[in-house]
Amino acid sequence: MSALSKAFSPKWVDFHCHLDLYPNHEELIEQCDRDEVATLTVTTTPKAWLRNNALASKSRYVRVALGLHPQLVAERAAELPLWKELMADARYIGEIGLDAGPRYCHSFELQKRVFTEILRECARVGGKILTVHSVRSAGTVLDLVSQHLSPNRGRVVLHWFTGSQSDARRAVDLGCYFSINAEMLRNDRHRAMISKLPLSQLLTETDGPFTKFGDRTATPSDVAATVKTLAELIRIPATDAAASIRANLARVATVDRIEPAS
Ligand code: MN
Repeated sequence: MSALSKAFSPKWVDFHCHLDLYPNHEELIEQCDRDEVATLTVTTTPKAWLRNNALASKSRYVRVALGLHPQLVAERAAELPLWKELMADARYIGEIGLDAGPRYCHSFELQKRVFTEILRECARVGGKILTVHSVRSAGTVLDLVSQHLSPNRGRVVLHWFTGSQSDARRAVDLGCYFSINAEMLRNDRHRAMISKLPLSQLLTETDGPFTKFGDRTATPSDVAATVKTLAELIRIPATDAAASIRANLARVATVDRIEPAS
């Protein structure tokens, strides 16, 4: 199903959120529709995708991504065949990627094999939009993307990207987008990196429920505040930042008009 087939004019964009990890999942879908927040809800295992899809089926603003989270690959790599079976019906793919942090580096080789398979499948089928995790592994993520998924076969959105300035430049040149969250904007090193990214490659996200808004857990509507903080950082009016992010989302979503590889 095309995201463009439903009348759709979002005010805001939350391009990476885990709605199924909140106790009030269905209420939040209604909130996304009410506040006109285009929300990509990611799954961490392919088994979670069908129920997420069913819950979001009537929503104008919520889309569901088919994932196999790198932090779960050690236990869930056996679900890769299920992921492959479902991917024909999934326009959005995630949460996928690599995590070389201390808790997950033990499975890094397996993560690389799974992520490579996923990228190859996306390249083979074409037209997918990916939300990619790259904790302590930005260089390897970009190596694998550049080897296996050319920009004319799919769109890569780097979620909560914390790589170096040179990693970021490389990602920009590879045509990747970046979904920026409030936590990133509270960190000086990340602020410096974000301020050098092209506005035309930026989206916003919450990564809820893993981020806070004040004392409470962030929800998709909190991206409005993130846009304001981002606009202050890059010194443009918040309304201009919001308009650019909406335009960027529309461009990301043109991926189904990509010509097949020749
Ligand atoms: Mn996440």
